Amino acid sequence: MKKIVLLGSTGSIGTQTLEVVSSYPEKLSVVALAAGSNVEKMEQQIRQYRPSYAVMWTEEAARELRTRVADTDVKVLSGMDGLIEISSLPEAEVVVTAIVGMIGIRPTIAAIKAGKDIALANKETLVTAGHIIMPLAKEYGVQILPVDSEHSAIFQSLNGEPKDKISKILLTASGGPFRGWTREQMEKVQVEDALKHPNWAMGRKITIDSATMVNKGLEVMEAGWLFGVTADKIKVVVQPQSIIHSMVEYVDGAVMAQLGVPDMKLPIQYALFYPDRLPMNDNKVDFFALREITFEEPDPEVFVGLKLAYEAFRIGGSMPTVFNAANEKAVSLFLDRKIGFLDIPRLIEESMRQHNVISHPTVEQILETEASCYEFIESRC
Ligand code: NDP
Repeated sequence: MKKIVLLGSTGSIGTQTLEVVSSYPEKLSVVALAAGSNVEKMEQQIRQYRPSYAVMWTEEAARELRTRVADTDVKVLSGMDGLIEISSLPEAEVVVTAIVGMIGIRPTIAAIKAGKDIALANKETLVTAGHIIMPLAKEYGVQILPVDSEHSAIFQSLNGEPKDKISKILLTASGGPFRGWTREQMEKVQVEDALKHPNWAMGRKITIDSATMVNKGLEVMEAGWLFGVTADKIKVVVQPQSIIHSMVEYVDGAVMAQLGVPDMKLPIQYALFYPDRLPMNDNKVDFFALREITFEEPDPEVFVGLKLAYEAFRIGGSMPTVFNAANEKAVSLFLDRKIGFLDIPRLIEESMRQHNVISHPTVEQILETEASCYEFIESRC
């Protein structure tokens, strides 16, 4: 029985992770769950999955949850201390990081130091603190298993081949709802338009990130850290059907790809059972119904966020944090209808231009950079 801790259990990845647990109750059990404020969903998950611990971000939400589940044995904690405590529980084997944002950095570090393997969905942690996380994982001998579908595909296509045999990582992208659009067309985009992803059902923030292709930019950085390659070796390939989840081109020209229907449960399950493969539902690719798989090159002048991500990754240090923090703040302003769609890349670019790079930021400096970036954006809006 593999015991897991699930950070972000009420979200899109979190609930799909619990569906995988439900498919294999004899192989997986949940020791602890964590969420932000959704007390109602957390109560329901506690009753169904019977974890020993549950964490809510605010003490107020934790208090409400304690009242609701007073008839159970679950111990309810709160805040960063709670997240760190459950991430280092002796009985847990794997920590699934499915929370949104840089809040994931400290619990991930705690989990690694406690010797837990990480099933990583929370890409912001690697984007901003990859220089801390990856060496730490090596030092403690823990595995970072990608949950993001593209990174899982790369991981599966690499299948243990040495890094120096990689010629290129071909990171596929659906292109989002505005594939093929001009900047003029994008000026009028509303929140509802941007929340309509053609192939994937995801959380709100990552859905907007897909529409701007900032998500692909974050994934470029995530891939760089996970697989130890530079930005020059990662090429984004638009593949609108979302059937090829990514590819690796080797030095001899051979290309390995992982294909499948767009369903996050596949990479989640793969990360949880790696290196084993277990049966899933019958949701398989029907190539005759599909008929064709097509490819396009993304336009960096339209999807400026993608271009800026490459620049941030090449500069390194604290610049990816600025890229990520500026995007988080801008996306939340866009979702609140306070700024337009194209203001998202504009604010990222302005934030990057005014930043003085710290070359090897500590966790404290990463969080300070995030806070000052938020302040900068607030002063601009
Ligand atoms: P959602 O917004 O759907 O879920 C976020 C989860 O994090 C919720 O459970 C939320 O709780 C919880 N949370 C938010 N803030 C806190 C906090 N301060 N403390 C504890 N928990 C918190 O996001 P997604 O599931 O879409 O994404 C999660 C991560 O996975 C992101 O980093 C994303 O980039 C990545 N990812 C997502 C994919 C997808 O298909 N969705 C694909 C690949 C990667 P509450 O419900 O209470 O707010």
